Amino acid sequence: MKVLPIRGKMSLFYLVVGEGGMILVDAGLAGEERLLWRQMQALGRDDLQFIFITHAHLDHYGAALAIRAKTGARIVVHEADAAALAGGETPLGTVRSRGRLVRPLLPLAERWFGPPPTPADVLVQDGASFAVGEMSLQVVHTPGHTPGSCTVVVNGEHAFVGDLISGLGRPHIQRYYAHDWAQLPLSVQCLRALPGLRWLYPGHGRTPLPPLPELR
Ligand SMILES: [Zn+2]
Ligand SMILES: [Zn+2]
Repeated sequence: MKVLPIRGKMSLFYLVVGEGGMILVDAGLAGEERLLWRQMQALGRDDLQFIFITHAHLDHYGAALAIRAKTGARIVVHEADAAALAGGETPLGTVRSRGRLVRPLLPLAERWFGPPPTPADVLVQDGASFAVGEMSLQVVHTPGHTPGSCTVVVNGEHAFVGDLISGLGRPHIQRYYAHDWAQLPLSVQCLRALPGLRWLYPGHGRTPLPPLPELR
């Protein structure tokens, strides 16, 4: 199993390649499906089976619909973020610090990068599990950033954390946007409790990160 990070304009998304199939975690901005086609062409593979969306923000699900249309992969999201996804929305919750500078730009960003309404195929809750070839996938509900934010754990070792943890600068817990600030440290605790994690893959910044580094 191999993790190929795809660096979009705003976020990172990940193609996870197993012998018996592939999955995508997040889907970048609308239009960034092109970055994925390039990777798939280089691999000579087209067996994408699932598109896991860690949360309903435009830089994480923008291209999901286009990718589903071409590959037939099913879009998976936590039920608490499904309505925002289906509405093409980007709920920021409350913003702090530098996030305040970005909030007024959101309508503009939505006009430029507005994700199409994206009804998911599979709605999940905490603990949902999937098998793709030899890979085992587990969805861990890690809310706070958005109500339905999730971490996808592959083979018990690789955790795709979305925007719960950021790799921008020194790795840190989300500090700009949250639906529920008090949930963020609890969600990190939830990851700390998972035995065997080897790498974290954040939605922004440096990747991968060692498991649960000193987070501030
Ligand atoms: Zn993000
Ligand atoms: Zn986000």
